[in-house]
Amino acid sequence: MQTELRFICDLPSGFHARPASIICEVVRRFRSRVWLAKGDGTPIDARSVLSIVGLDVHAGDACIVRAEGDDADSVIEAFRRLVESELAAREETQAPAADPSAKHIGRLPPGLRALNTAHILGRPVCAGVGAGECVLVGGLELPSVLRGQNARSVELELADIHAGIAAVREELTKRAASSKQRMEGDLLRAHSEIAGDPALITEIERLVHSGRTAAQAVVDAAGLMCAVLRQAESAYVRDRAVDVQDVCMQVLGHVTGGMSNAVEVTLERDSVIFAEELTANQLLRMDRSRVRGLVLGGVGATSHTVILARSLRIPTVIDVPHATSIAAHGSRAIVDGTGGFVITEVGQDVERYYQRESVTQDRWLKRVVPLAQQPAVTHDGVRLEIGVNASIAEEVAGATAMGADGVGLLRTELLFLDRAVAPSEDEQYDAYSAVVQAAAGRSVIIRTFDIGGDKPAAYLSMPHEENPFLGVRGIRLYELHPELLRGQLRAIARASALGTVKVMAPMVATAVEAAWFRGKVREVQGELKAAGVAFDGAMPIGVMIEVPSVALVMDHLSDVVDFFSIGTNDLCQYWMAVDRGNPGVGALYNPRQPSFLRLLRQIVTSAKERGKWIGVCGEMAGESSNIPIMLGLGVDEISVAPGELRRLKLAVGERSAALCRDLLDKAMACRDTESVERLLGEQTHLAGNVAPVIDAGLVEIGSDAMSKSEAVKEAVDALFIAGRTDRPRDVEEAVWAREATYSTGLGHGFAVPHCKSDAVRVPSLVVLKLHTPIEWGSMDGQPVRVVMLLTIPLSDTSGAHMKVFAKLARRLMHEEFRDRLEQACDPAAVERLLNDELGLAG
Ligand code: PEP
Ligand code: MG
Repeated sequence: MQTELRFICDLPSGFHARPASIICEVVRRFRSRVWLAKGDGTPIDARSVLSIVGLDVHAGDACIVRAEGDDADSVIEAFRRLVESELAAREETQAPAADPSAKHIGRLPPGLRALNTAHILGRPVCAGVGAGECVLVGGLELPSVLRGQNARSVELELADIHAGIAAVREELTKRAASSKQRMEGDLLRAHSEIAGDPALITEIERLVHSGRTAAQAVVDAAGLMCAVLRQAESAYVRDRAVDVQDVCMQVLGHVTGGMSNAVEVTLERDSVIFAEELTANQLLRMDRSRVRGLVLGGVGATSHTVILARSLRIPTVIDVPHATSIAAHGSRAIVDGTGGFVITEVGQDVERYYQRESVTQDRWLKRVVPLAQQPAVTHDGVRLEIGVNASIAEEVAGATAMGADGVGLLRTELLFLDRAVAPSEDEQYDAYSAVVQAAAGRSVIIRTFDIGGDKPAAYLSMPHEENPFLGVRGIRLYELHPELLRGQLRAIARASALGTVKVMAPMVATAVEAAWFRGKVREVQGELKAAGVAFDGAMPIGVMIEVPSVALVMDHLSDVVDFFSIGTNDLCQYWMAVDRGNPGVGALYNPRQPSFLRLLRQIVTSAKERGKWIGVCGEMAGESSNIPIMLGLGVDEISVAPGELRRLKLAVGERSAALCRDLLDKAMACRDTESVERLLGEQTHLAGNVAPVIDAGLVEIGSDAMSKSEAVKEAVDALFIAGRTDRPRDVEEAVWAREATYSTGLGHGFAVPHCKSDAVRVPSLVVLKLHTPIEWGSMDGQPVRVVMLLTIPLSDTSGAHMKVFAKLARRLMHEEFRDRLEQACDPAAVERLLNDELGLAG
């Protein structure tokens, strides 16, 4: 029986992936064969999502559906219901396209808002600004180790394909079922349909029959399907090529046992990398001197890609929707890793904004570079060593030059991941020696490989685990691969002859494991001794504290190891029972949880009672706002991403360890993280620093600001350069919030913008004398020649802010004062005048 239905598509967005997958779902319930055609075009199989999407049906297009089989009438009836009401109803219930600004913490700074800069928001994970040519990394390329491989029998290759597709579909279906958002669920189902799409599978099978390996067939079929989709008239259908790539990448991942991300990317010039996903190893394989920024999709904030990006100080934004479809390959982009956004249409005004920003950064560096070379010591004389977390010698060399006290964590697993075989002892020896040499005599803590969890190694043929983070990872893997451990310990012990090396095991859960590890180190040292190979017999042996169970047996652990380093990333994950990469439970994953602070205090106290050296190498240590916690705990060292090093060194100097201990007591007594955070926010100048309200460093004569927004930014940046704020953008926001209620242009060419903000450390007055007067919306309509920015810390409740402001406003009414201020033509003269007239010095 054959029957047909003619209809006009009335879905506003046509038959895109979601309606297409719903059509397939319905059609597949029947036995009949069903074809769909647009106008007089060639009919396609209505069970293939890709073919439906490829038809490029828009609203208003005439279509025809034909069915042939014993239940043809029923299928046509079902189709009629679909096109007449059900599809439209599904479309209407979908949420409107999400406003990224509502979901992400990134925000365009006021200066760029004033320029109406088009941008895409994401989540900032590595501060700084980078610009370059857009390079889109799709990720679907055959790993080089698999290139040129011969296919086994067609049956074996097909079996791999079908198993891979089945696994991907199962994963997608599970995720769709557990998704709470209908839109997301529908999309995941659409991806699952793509994975099982007859057109795609037929193509892959054809390629296998023509002699390709399973992996090669997936890559080639994806290429062919994508090429067809990319030729579509509609941008929407062209964009679906990304979906096919995405799905095929997942299938390839299964077929190759996890090696599919090993994409080689050649960079010709300064580049900004756009990728949905990027592994740390992919990043390592690029010419890093040319990677100016990363714009990534679903990559976790504590993933090793992000950790590495921080380490290499590459401005990075994650959670960027459709990361590989928002920019054109080869065009210019700017990544703002501080604000958490990317600009893909870069005009001259935006270039000027960032040039000025770069001048600010250079001036800040000029001040802090010499300071960071000094040891970090609190006001009351407590030293905190600040080391860096690193993976390769290149990072260590950069960090040493910046003033790092050592390497607090060398993550060695990057040497082991994303490759076909494990690195040899000699390869490892070369890598560790290079690090030790780059550290130039400073201590290097080498952590033995932490594989497992989110870091699988294909060649270890690790069994599938339901909960890999709770499974065989870190030290738990060592007994299964004794030769791998032995090779690494030999390489580390040999490198210990070249400098100050310490060795440390990850994921230790009991003192028994720690003792076993120590035994293995001694065994290897015994072998080297017998063979006459040089090593440091006194090399300290330590363990990471990242499994909560060891917190209560620090005494036992102290009997067997020499030092500890707290891995707060994992410790917090296991303590709070939250997956560190799962945004759904991200709110709980907060190391400022009072219970977590109590845990840390207990660990550090136990270690100190037994005279053990203890550091912190988790990401928590790298946030300058956590410095009071670190000092309050009394750890010996923190190990942080190199990009944070200078800022942290300075932050220690502004604190008093005794006050930090009190603060930690108060934080541990808080009942929630908000209270802890409020406490940390309020205590911006714990050392009781007394800085003058104005000094010559806050006066700029002949500023080239061309607009009100440039002037405000320049004045706020002066506070940043002088070390009076670490968060200039927050201060800028506070100034503009005040400015929104009334203009601070007081008339006669003077403006006095002002704010109270927790981002300011001390009351400060900045003076900008402008080269060219600018429009300010002043009371008398006159342009402004002198800008005086007054900022007060939120914690200052003395009312000083208003008093100084009122005094300044009164003085500015007097022509004589204005004249004297305008005539003062060097910063010191301005400083003197204001101190005298406003009585600031006292
Ligand atoms: C940690 O868990 O805090 C840590 C430093 O180790 P990694 O992030 O490499 O798991
Ligand atoms: Mg860890």
